[in-house]
Amino acid sequence: MSLTDNPAGVPLEPLLPLFHRLNREHFEGSLVRDGLPLVSLRWSDGRMRRSAGMYRFGRHSDGRELSEIVLSRPLLDPLPREALLGTLCHEMIHAWTHRVLQVQEVHGPHFRARMAAINTAQAGFVVSVRHRYPLPGEPRWLARCPRCGVSAPYRRRVKGLACRACCERHHGGGWHASCLLEFQEVA
Ligand SMILES: [Zn+2]
Ligand SMILES: [Zn+2]
Repeated sequence: MSLTDNPAGVPLEPLLPLFHRLNREHFEGSLVRDGLPLVSLRWSDGRMRRSAGMYRFGRHSDGRELSEIVLSRPLLDPLPREALLGTLCHEMIHAWTHRVLQVQEVHGPHFRARMAAINTAQAGFVVSVRHRYPLPGEPRWLARCPRCGVSAPYRRRVKGLACRACCERHHGGGWHASCLLEFQEVA
């Protein structure tokens, strides 16, 4: 068994209590409204290896608003807890700039100012612009699916990339031009 296997019976750390704690300590409680988080949280399946974490937003296929933080199970599970806290906090800053400040940036000035404040305020973990594990580079693009409206960060523009969910939903899993992602460069 490799280190990245998560055998049944060894539960991953639940994310919600960590989210509430970080929200209180570093976001003035702004990521919770009427007792409900403004963003949903989940661990990825075993395939998410492109990044330790990501923040996605847009609409579900049934029209409900989508705003979620996904953390990579295969990348974070074997790492110390500081990596989980730093990654979750990084994605919470994205959710905060999007849902609370309502500005469009990836790692722009609002992101960096909040990151610096959090790093100064505590010593238990470090938030960095790049997720240092294990891939270098930082996302500069937002790719949006014109069909379902879901946006996700990318490091580089990828020609011909289509939304997997929509290709599966509408085209039996085959590539289709109506699901081509639209790339927009962001700060
Ligand atoms: Zn980021
Ligand atoms: Zn789509």
